[in-house]
Amino acid sequence: MFILKGIEQLTNAISKAKKIRPRVEFDRFGRYRVSGSKGGYYTVICKKSDNNYKTVECTCKGAEQGLACYHAAAALSLHIGLARRQQTAE
Ligand SMILES: [Zn+2]
Repeated sequence: MFILKGIEQLTNAISKAKKIRPRVEFDRFGRYRVSGSKGGYYTVICKKSDNNYKTVECTCKGAEQGLACYHAAAALSLHIGLARRQQTAE
């Protein structure tokens, strides 16, 4: 799990995601499944903690160590778009 402070943090993960182009499946708002480079899927959970930090969880090894992985970057691009749509709908 890592705390998302800004998009700069994701620069490397985003370029990796662009190269690998993982498949992102929508589960529900804030919960996504992202395909791994060696097959299988990782679950990415994006949420706001009680103290208003944006936290991102992924079930891969990298994220376990607090790294911003490309699964998270791929899921976040979908999540941010959805969150924006939700805000304009309110
Ligand atoms: Zn991951």
